[in-house]
Amino acid sequence: MYLTVHNATKIYGNFTALDSVSIDIEQGEFVCLLGPSGCGKTTLLRLIAGLTELDGGDILLEGEALSDLPARKRGFGIVFQSYSLFPNMTVAENIGYGLKIRGASRSEISRRVNELLELVKLPRVADNFPGQLSGGQQQRIALARAIAVDPRVLLLDEPLSALDAKVRAELRGEIRHVQRSLGIPTLMVTHDQEEALALADKIICMNHGIVVQAGTPEDLYHRP
Ligand code: ADP
Ligand code: ADP
Repeated sequence: MYLTVHNATKIYGNFTALDSVSIDIEQGEFVCLLGPSGCGKTTLLRLIAGLTELDGGDILLEGEALSDLPARKRGFGIVFQSYSLFPNMTVAENIGYGLKIRGASRSEISRRVNELLELVKLPRVADNFPGQLSGGQQQRIALARAIAVDPRVLLLDEPLSALDAKVRAELRGEIRHVQRSLGIPTLMVTHDQEEALALADKIICMNHGIVVQAGTPEDLYHRP
């Protein structure tokens, strides 16, 4: 297994948001966490990202415990639901930000930014500011920024749910294309079953802080 979450537990006060949850993601796999609002999906993603601490259990990346590593040392790419681009930076600066703090040269950053803009099919917006772009375009840029530093895992938290239906369908295809072409192991949180069916190699269904079912879309929904 590439990424393993083993018996993860998260407690807020006296409320158990996650109760001994275990999931696996294999190299190159696209996994969707599916379930109703409040079931603990975002909490699990935040634990994996290192944005919040476990109250029990372990998270392993290629067999190595991540539990004590802070978010910035995990090297994961994250896209959130709402536009989380830096508003005062251009698109190119947003995408190049992670490379810059890692000490990449200007020419290297510029080459990579152009490559990523091509990949997300927005070759001409490098000098625009996020506020000049549509919601769907901003999410494409957020995706480009997340993959700019070659993350070991891509984490997507309802990246499409703030968009209208047409843009959502387009961007769904885009996410799939990018994920497949890079082969990057991906975990996406969604409450939309159709979205999970369209994207996932494996779907993990959650409810009330536990995993209730897991399998391929065929296993879960097309069994005779
Ligand atoms: P989902 O992503 O499935 O909508 P969340 O993981 O956001 O669910 O939340 C799971 C439950 O934990 C919800 O009942 C939510 O209100 C609660 N919760 C999330 N974060 C906190 C927090 N920081 N403090 C207290 N309760 C929280
Ligand atoms: P999402 O839209 O991903 O489900 P929320 O809007 O539920 O996220 O939560 C936003 C922030 O508020 C998160 O940091 C979460 O941990 C916190 N939070 C969520 N539910 C509660 C709660 N019941 N009490 C305190 N904090 C909460």
